[in-house]
Amino acid sequence: MNLLSLICLLSFTLSVVSPLVAQGKIHVLIDPGHGGQDKGATILHNSTQLIKESDLTLSLSQKILNLIQSQYSHVIDAEVTRTGNQYVSLPERVKRAQSSQLDLYISLHYNTAPSNNLSGTEIYFPQENKIQESLPVLEAIKQDVIETGRIKKSLQFSQLLSPEWKLTQLKIRRAPFYILDKSPVPSILIEVGYLSNPQEQKKLLKHQNQDLVAESIVKALLNFKENRDNQLN
Ligand SMILES: [Zn+2]
Repeated sequence: MNLLSLICLLSFTLSVVSPLVAQGKIHVLIDPGHGGQDKGATILHNSTQLIKESDLTLSLSQKILNLIQSQYSHVIDAEVTRTGNQYVSLPERVKRAQSSQLDLYISLHYNTAPSNNLSGTEIYFPQENKIQESLPVLEAIKQDVIETGRIKKSLQFSQLLSPEWKLTQLKIRRAPFYILDKSPVPSILIEVGYLSNPQEQKKLLKHQNQDLVAESIVKALLNFKENRDNQLN
């Protein structure tokens, strides 16, 4: 690597690791999973009522959005990928993440399993850094710095959410989900709980527990912002 390349790389690395930008709001994209013809998991509640995952994720996203807009709009700028029961493809969701200056992308889901014993919340963050081998060396190093930072921040948010989470036991995992892989910004996917577990299903459907989940996510967002601001100072 020649000297000019090294200088370019160092200044680029510094700008990624500690950006000298003014403190401001954090920008978050909330993505309620599924929608429209894609109902996600469906389950019969009390033998009569059909519960659709796509409705639950929408309702939770609205609670998060309302909480942010009513109390924290001065520090968090939030958008959602859908506000009604419409279909949004995975590439469209990723496109939304690409089109704005986002600090975080949060995808919301509810889990099911063939066994009704499984329970708890699962948070997923992106897999190991994957850099194309065909890239020129300097470009590959740049991409590596960006991708490493993205994964680190995704994990950081997951770890900040953990102590705020009051609903169930929470596990942090990695997975090759399309949106986590393709999103260019720090991203997590939350499987809030198991609808297939009868006790957990009751818990998940209670409005006050949905409020609790929304509050946990917003508290973690406030801590995420505080961390970012401390790093900038
Ligand atoms: Zn889902």
